[in-house]
Amino acid sequence: MNRQVKWALGGAVALLALSAAAWRLTPRQPVDGGPVVVGEARQGGLTIALPKAVADVAIREAKVPGRPIVLIDPGHGGRDPGAGGVSGQVTEKQLTLAMADELADLLEQRGRVRVALSRTGDSYLTLDERAAIARRIGASLFVSLHMDSAPNPLARGATLYSLSDIASSEEAARFASAENRSGDPLSSEGNGSLNSILSDLALRGQMEQSADLARRTVRRAAGRVALRPRPHQFAAFHVLRRPDTPALLVEAGYISNVDDEALLVTREGRAPLVLVLAQAIEADLAGRRLH
Ligand SMILES: [Zn+2]
Repeated sequence: MNRQVKWALGGAVALLALSAAAWRLTPRQPVDGGPVVVGEARQGGLTIALPKAVADVAIREAKVPGRPIVLIDPGHGGRDPGAGGVSGQVTEKQLTLAMADELADLLEQRGRVRVALSRTGDSYLTLDERAAIARRIGASLFVSLHMDSAPNPLARGATLYSLSDIASSEEAARFASAENRSGDPLSSEGNGSLNSILSDLALRGQMEQSADLARRTVRRAAGRVALRPRPHQFAAFHVLRRPDTPALLVEAGYISNVDDEALLVTREGRAPLVLVLAQAIEADLAGRRLH
C-alpha cells in the first residue's frame, strides 16, 4: 500500500467516524417531519428531545380508575416492514398493527386494565423508543406483537418469548438477533454494559415474572390457538430488556406459511389469540396486585 492510498484510506475512516459521531449527536426528528416535542426525559440537567410519537401516547382508561397500564407494541412500522407474507400481499407491520388495535379495543371494552399502544399508525419507532414509551407512561406490562417467518414453509404456530440472557435454542438466539437489528442501529448498542445490567436483581425479577407470564399464556392458549411444538422460548431481546417491566414478545404465527397467513390476515383468524392475550394480561396484572 503506497502512502497516497494510506492517506486516502485514513481520510475516509476519519470522515466516517466524524459523520457517525455527528449522526449520534443530531437530535432525532419525528418520522412525519413535524415539530420535536420535548418529553419528560429530563435527567441531570439534560433535556432529551423525544420524537412526537414518544411524547403523545394516549392511555385508554379502565372502568375503575387507577388500574395498571399495559403497553401493546405493534412490532415494526414505517420504513421497517418486518417479515413479508408468503402471498406477497401483506407485511408483518400491517398485521401487528391490526392485531394490536384489536387487543387494545378488547382490553378497553373489558375495562379491567388501562391500555396504550406504542404506535397507532404506520410510523417507525426504534426499539429504544418503544421501551421509552413504556417507562414514560408507567406501564406495568409490555407486550410486543410480531409475526414469524421461516425458510421452512411448513413451520407454523404461535410462540411466546420472554427475555433471558441465555437463549432457549439456537433458533431463538438467531431470531432475537434478527429482531434486535430491526432496522435500528442503536438497538445493538449498550452491550458493553450488558454484564452490569444482567447482575441487576431487578432485571432478574423482571425475567422471572416475564417467563411466568409466558408459561401461563401458553397454558391458557393450549387447545385454543395453534402453537409451535416448543411454544415458550426465551432469548436476549433488546426490546424486552429495556422497558423496566415484565415483558412478553408474541409471535402470532408464521406468515411464511400459507395456512397461518390465511388465518392471520383476518380479524376472525386473529381473534382466538387476541382473547387469550387479553385474558393473560388481565390475570397477570391482577395477580401482581399493582395500582
Ligand atoms: Zn418482528
